[in-house]
Amino acid sequence: MEYELVCGLETHVELSTKTKLFCDCPTAFGGEPNTRCCPVCLGLPGSLPKLNREAVGFTVLAGLALGCTISPRSHMDRKNYCYPDLPKAYQISQYDVPLCRDGQVTLSNGRVIRIARIHLEEDAGKLIHRQGETCIDYNRCGVPLIEVVTEPDFRSVEEAREYLELLRLTMRYLGISDCKMQEGSLRSDVNVSLRPKGTENYGVRTEIKNMNSFTFMERAIRYEARRQEAILRQGGSVSQETLRYLPEQDRTEPMRSKEDAQDYRFFPEPDLCTVAVSPEWVEKLRGSLPELPREKQARFQREYGLPEEDAKLLVQHRKIAEYFDETAREVEEPRNAARCILEQVFRRLKTEEEKEQGEIPVPPEELSGLIRLLETKKIRRDLLRSTLETMLDTGKPWKEILKPEDLEGISPEKLRELCQKAIENNAKAAQEYRDGKEKALKALMGAVMRECRGKADPAQTEALLKALLQEPR
Ligand code: ADP
Ligand code: MG
Ligand code: ZN
Repeated sequence: MEYELVCGLETHVELSTKTKLFCDCPTAFGGEPNTRCCPVCLGLPGSLPKLNREAVGFTVLAGLALGCTISPRSHMDRKNYCYPDLPKAYQISQYDVPLCRDGQVTLSNGRVIRIARIHLEEDAGKLIHRQGETCIDYNRCGVPLIEVVTEPDFRSVEEAREYLELLRLTMRYLGISDCKMQEGSLRSDVNVSLRPKGTENYGVRTEIKNMNSFTFMERAIRYEARRQEAILRQGGSVSQETLRYLPEQDRTEPMRSKEDAQDYRFFPEPDLCTVAVSPEWVEKLRGSLPELPREKQARFQREYGLPEEDAKLLVQHRKIAEYFDETAREVEEPRNAARCILEQVFRRLKTEEEKEQGEIPVPPEELSGLIRLLETKKIRRDLLRSTLETMLDTGKPWKEILKPEDLEGISPEKLRELCQKAIENNAKAAQEYRDGKEKALKALMGAVMRECRGKADPAQTEALLKALLQEPR
């Protein structure tokens, strides 16, 4: 019997609002432990929460981008549990009426992943275990989170990964989260079960908590599917439990979880009133949605004639996509702009973070100006390349780098002179060529091209060199 993977994701996305969900403390990552806290986020007696409007707006934006229905009226609920990372002993979340419901995302293979809900809640503090003691940092307490919950619609590891990548990219385009997995601002709980292929009913699932790396998530799902399959094949049954993934050992283990057999006793948060999102506000937010990555990619392919692979790479970071867009608009052949960016600009932005920030020392109008020189045959591609390198090194405009003579063509007399010089200066290569070693011509070509900074026509140069080498000396 063959088994089919069934997987659903619950993804936490930390929102980059300026202040926390219920108080005015800053949300920025890091800081000396316990310096970004106040009586509200510490839940001291007598303190009262007030809901951050910006966080509600961000949640609605996420919902709109993922095709959800927005609840005109919702409320916050208390989820009660006792754990040291939660000073109030309850988390303010949303239970029966989330802000957003019933969305969907279409994967590149055409399969639709249904989004069950998106709700807004507060983050808990962070426990730091060291040498037998546990310290608590409450700076993260009260930072707004959204939880995006899919239906169990993934049928492969690849689908889960593609969804999570698209979710991250979409959140970044919206500007509502930086989604830095290493800082925990994007983390997923992964639910995994198996069922005999071709059957309808879902099997018993396990939930792997807090995956904050794409690679680990993939490995965890694969491991868990293997483990469950072994149990099922022996006629056993999988027990529903919460697991943690141990990357060093590539396996999962049950968590002694605060979740297990817990009754959270959800009830409406009495210190906050109904959350009302007016249709006008929803429409205003809808109007402010940026062009989303998938739409941008499709437009780059359609309007600029880019191959799918290039368009996909260019939309991975919003700033770079916009930089390309501005450059491409001003040139004859947008593929020239794509090529400069993918081959030269991209290499300079080493880390994910640098690419995300997209700080490029050459403004788009400078790059398009340079490309126009190529397209009007004033310079050749090698000169474009080297000039762009210098521009990226120095931030200088091309006008200051290219000399007036660079922009002039090269006269036949001048080319002849350069070829003769190259032959004289590279006597060994010249002799080798005369002795029948075709390859030796490369060195001579290179010498000419260096001398004229790539302006000479290669075919013409080659012909001329060959002619000169055949002349009797
Ligand atoms: P709970 O209320 O217990 O958290 P939900 O129905 O809200 O359960 O589901 C939580 C997550 O688990 C969702 O992402 C859902 O897609 C996923 N899920 C539910 N059942 C299964 C299953 N049998 N196999 C895999 N994933 C599942
Ligand atoms: Mg759950
Ligand atoms: Zn606070």
